[in-house]
Amino acid sequence: MKSLIERWRGRLPVTGRTPVVSLGEGGTPLIRADRLARAAGLPPGSVHLKFEGTNPTGSFKDRGMTLAVSKALEAGSRGVLCASTGNTAASAAAYAAKAGLRCVVFLPRGAVARGKLMQAAAHGAEIVDVAGNFDAALRTALRTAERKGLTVVNSSNPFRIEGQKTAAFEVAEAMGRAPDFQFMPVGNAGNITAYWKGYKELGGGRPRIMGFQAAGAAPLVLGHPVKAPRTVATAIRIGDPYSRDGALAARDESGGAIGSVTDSQILAAYRFLAREEGVFCEPASAAGVAGLLKLCRSGRKPRGTVVCVLTGHGLKDPDTAARCIPLRRSRL
Ligand SMILES: *Cc1c(COP(=O)(O)O)cnc(C)c1O
Repeated sequence: MKSLIERWRGRLPVTGRTPVVSLGEGGTPLIRADRLARAAGLPPGSVHLKFEGTNPTGSFKDRGMTLAVSKALEAGSRGVLCASTGNTAASAAAYAAKAGLRCVVFLPRGAVARGKLMQAAAHGAEIVDVAGNFDAALRTALRTAERKGLTVVNSSNPFRIEGQKTAAFEVAEAMGRAPDFQFMPVGNAGNITAYWKGYKELGGGRPRIMGFQAAGAAPLVLGHPVKAPRTVATAIRIGDPYSRDGALAARDESGGAIGSVTDSQILAAYRFLAREEGVFCEPASAAGVAGLLKLCRSGRKPRGTVVCVLTGHGLKDPDTAARCIPLRRSRL
């Protein structure tokens, strides 16, 4: 299969001299979800899941990382650096390994799902434990990068956003046009910024963008940073999103909304997707679906086609799965 950069070369900031660092990212499935549609009270065929868990390291972060690492290599960088709730670190570590670059990751202590930590370790990343949350880790990482001359591959790096916008191209291509609504989780807000950029660049119809934060980590809903963000969904446990302005622009320009869902709504959606749709995503990924169900149950049903973005794979976070999913013992 073509790499993401080859597939969308004409729409990305690359030249013939850019060394393409690829692990076969992108080209993820758009899965029809009729049981979810029924649970939401929507017609069959109206709801689809864009499952990003099938990317090489198991999350959408690979779309941005293939470009960010390729451009770092092109620029002669000695290595890459990021702060991460886990998936950015896993992705950066894998692409840096492939490129032969050094990789340093700043992780909030005790707040990274086990699968993600093991991935970063397996790919040879140097790990810096930060006492504090993601927001503190990001501030430390940005300062250190400057001092050490390493390339930052957080979504402050514009190549991350450029790579991630290709998911919007794929959704529109698979459906024949953009959906009417898109539901998705929002953490540091790079992904919502990237999708909106992608849909705008395509021209034609655009979805209303419906972003969802966890109730205990909802700075964009509250209108101010959250000092001690709390949620079971560690990938969106972020109190001061870097791409806040991009998220608010996506909301306002698309006529969408940014709302919040509780941890119990997130976990209910997480279990539903696995049990009823056969799609195992990580808890954060279920926030958009939880938001869709919440809106529909309060009588505010979206009209038309709906895409829910499932950002990462359920295998990333085995501890939450073990805690929140009952084992069904057979009596056979
Ligand atoms: C990074 C991530 C998010 C949040 O994306 P942002 O671009 O930070 O808003 C959501 N879910 C998963 C699984 C992630 O890895």
